[in-house]
Amino acid sequence: MRKKLRKLITFIFCLLSVLYSQTVSPSIPELIDQVNIDNLIRHVRILSGEESVRINRVNTIITSRQLGHPDHDMAAEYLKATFKEYGYSPVEQQFYRGTGEICNLLAAHPGKQYPNQKYILCAHYDSINLFPNQPAPGADDNASGIAAILEAARILKNIETDYTIVFALWDAEEKGLWGSEHYAFNAARDNDTIQGVINLDMIAYDPDDKQLFSINIDDFANSIDLGNSIYSISNTYIDSLQPIIYNPGSTQSDHRKFWEHGFSAVFIGEAFRDGADYPFNHYSTDTIDKFNIKFFHNMSKLALATITILANIHVSDIVNDFFLEQNYPNPFNSSTVICYTLPHSSFTTLILYNLIGEKVSTLVQKVQPPGLHQVHLKVSDLPTGVYIYRLQQKENISSRSMLLIK
Ligand SMILES: [Zn+2]
Repeated sequence: MRKKLRKLITFIFCLLSVLYSQTVSPSIPELIDQVNIDNLIRHVRILSGEESVRINRVNTIITSRQLGHPDHDMAAEYLKATFKEYGYSPVEQQFYRGTGEICNLLAAHPGKQYPNQKYILCAHYDSINLFPNQPAPGADDNASGIAAILEAARILKNIETDYTIVFALWDAEEKGLWGSEHYAFNAARDNDTIQGVINLDMIAYDPDDKQLFSINIDDFANSIDLGNSIYSISNTYIDSLQPIIYNPGSTQSDHRKFWEHGFSAVFIGEAFRDGADYPFNHYSTDTIDKFNIKFFHNMSKLALATITILANIHVSDIVNDFFLEQNYPNPFNSSTVICYTLPHSSFTTLILYNLIGEKVSTLVQKVQPPGLHQVHLKVSDLPTGVYIYRLQQKENISSRSMLLIK
């Protein structure tokens, strides 16, 4: 009787710790799944004047985000209100240049382990029309990048990360990168520890549905390494996207100001050198009907995956129990992801077996640090069937089964 009770208590404890670990630290595929295309589209429609929005108790249509246009400030109000709705306290970074006031919008997600070291996910929110009296909807340039950041901020609100994330929305990019210049100049002067800057600018145009995108890097600080990380994150988590590295990359957006001030920065955008050079930017025809929605959705997922992996999902002590998660997706067709947490740094193996116990593949065989790990499994030569994957670190062993359907 007592034995049964002990078993029951152990079972409940295990169940609770599993539930707890999932709420604290979801896997990257689970997070990516939360990127909601309806939210992305709504942000773009509002920011490009296709849909009205209530700002300061008045229904407003944002026809232009061009500096000096009254709707520009309405757009800033909408962005601040959205950050607040998602639980952040946005800060305005104001300064004067040219004929008026410029206003960057910053929302911080503080890191648990290294609060003073930050990664910046950024995009410019101003727009421009080469014919100044016409509306400047700027749907692709750059409501698309802004929408991806707002969605990442929403999803990450209650997810703990080791490093601080700053969601930065720059003003006056179209004037000559004024907003980002102001920020980068001050950051360099104050010896800010910026680990990396990810700049999103125009992430929705893909006319031939090639799902190609560019990672723009150059030899400043660790920008090349940062670009290579994004390349591998894309290949690991966003199957249908095809990254291309442009080195030297474009200098035509806000990341350049971080390069100039000695920071690591990467610009992610359309494959403009490979058939996706957007013909509508800086005209009133830059509207959402030009979008490839699937590409826009994928790019927004990539932005979230990138900033989450760079800032390192925080694995608290209780989650550092040895734990092997169910692979995702399961059943799967050609690729799946296996996540697990390790309690300490030690020699670790993850091996795939078929149902009669034959070793099919060695997925991991090395010393690994404690914390959350992911293995991306791609199979092309295996037949349909049930497979067992077995994780071992010292005395800890755990197995689960997965179903491959071809
Ligand atoms: Zn732009």
